[in-house]
Amino acid sequence: MERINAWTTYKKREEKKVMDLGKAYRAFLDSGKTERECARETIRRAEKAGYVDLEKVSTLKAGDRVYVNTMNKAVQLYIIGSEPLEKGLNIVGAHIDSPRMDLKQNPLYEDTDLAYLDTHYYGGIKKYQWVTLPLALHGVVAKKDGTVVDVVIGEDEDDPVVGISDLLIHLSATQMDKKASVVIEGEALDVIVGGKPQKDVEKEPVKAAVLAILKEKYGMEEEDFLSAEIEVVPAGKSRDFGLDRSMVIGYGHDDRVCAYAEIEAMFRITDTPKYTCCCILADKEEIGSVGATGMRARYFENAVAEIMDKLGEYSELKLRRAMTNSRMLSCDVSAGYDPSYAGMFEKKNAAYLGKGVCFNKYTGSRGKSGSNDANAEFMGKLRAVMEAGKVVYQTAELGKVDQGGGGTIAYICALYGMNVIDSGVAVLSMHAPWEIISKADLYEAVKAYHAFLLNA
Ligand code: MN
Ligand code: MN
Repeated sequence: MERINAWTTYKKREEKKVMDLGKAYRAFLDSGKTERECARETIRRAEKAGYVDLEKVSTLKAGDRVYVNTMNKAVQLYIIGSEPLEKGLNIVGAHIDSPRMDLKQNPLYEDTDLAYLDTHYYGGIKKYQWVTLPLALHGVVAKKDGTVVDVVIGEDEDDPVVGISDLLIHLSATQMDKKASVVIEGEALDVIVGGKPQKDVEKEPVKAAVLAILKEKYGMEEEDFLSAEIEVVPAGKSRDFGLDRSMVIGYGHDDRVCAYAEIEAMFRITDTPKYTCCCILADKEEIGSVGATGMRARYFENAVAEIMDKLGEYSELKLRRAMTNSRMLSCDVSAGYDPSYAGMFEKKNAAYLGKGVCFNKYTGSRGKSGSNDANAEFMGKLRAVMEAGKVVYQTAELGKVDQGGGGTIAYICALYGMNVIDSGVAVLSMHAPWEIISKADLYEAVKAYHAFLLNA
């Protein structure tokens, strides 16, 4: 199958739209560097676009727009269609958590006149990529009195940043002989946060000085770390990448690029769709979709039940029919073909930057293990929908056979018996602190998700 580079299909006016979308996406990415921030930004935009909290409405009708907020970490958006829910929904689902380091519950310590925050990394990372970078702290501190304080340190230009040191090359003979997986060990991912002792304090004076700053800025005590969720992420904003500005380098493209394409596609729907449209932004995908905010929790099914109830359509059987009859794109990033590591890819079935939105019939590893493996009939229908929507698309699997593989939320939704396939944007340096995508692929993803929501 010959693939086309999407850039070659754009006339001047359309190319400007691609670049404008890239700029708008960068603003979204910069405003949400954690699942909480991303959920909040999505809800802010949804409310502006006329969506209301499902909890705040008692009845629903076709054309209504509602959102569901799950513990401030997962969001669903719905546009009620004209057909009954039991005919199924058209769903696009992505995740908004990204690989990073989380502070431990007892993180703060002092060693040799430096203060550190101890971390436990989250998701699959190459640990050696996370040292010697300016890092920022994002999260919340939940206090005993019920107040929740937002923390963001390291994003304003005048803010200090924090970071993890690495051994100087001059002393690295032993380290350089180690395997990459142990060059920097997980327990060594401790973030330096201070180096100035508090005067008049004898025991751990540098730690005391850091605590004094936290007390002043956030009103928090050391004990408050016990009920905090603070994430350590790369500091700074996304940037245009390449002299031609065709790409974006940023933290958390996986999977906020698909999340953004989804909400953008939802916001572009102005009329009442035939089938109810649903956009899911899930948490915890990077650690197996577990927990109350991960896709394996029942918030999606429960929300559909609530919506059916508020439409006066609810029954257990109709709910089951709604789930089974649904059609879904599990929107997650794909491994972009990297010429520098060509040997890890199979060229006929790789995802290329710039060659459009990517469909992955399956993503698993070692004999497709753990993959969703979508139905041919569904893929056949999608081809027709994509062609009608003039979408530049490609198909791929994740690397060469037996080189690896990965999972998404697809298999979880498939448990209901619905048709679901993986579809997303190709990424270079996936799971690195700074990942790279092509603006053309983002643009085609928005077109694809829009066409799918209206015509699947
Ligand atoms: Mn992902
Ligand atoms: Mn991932």
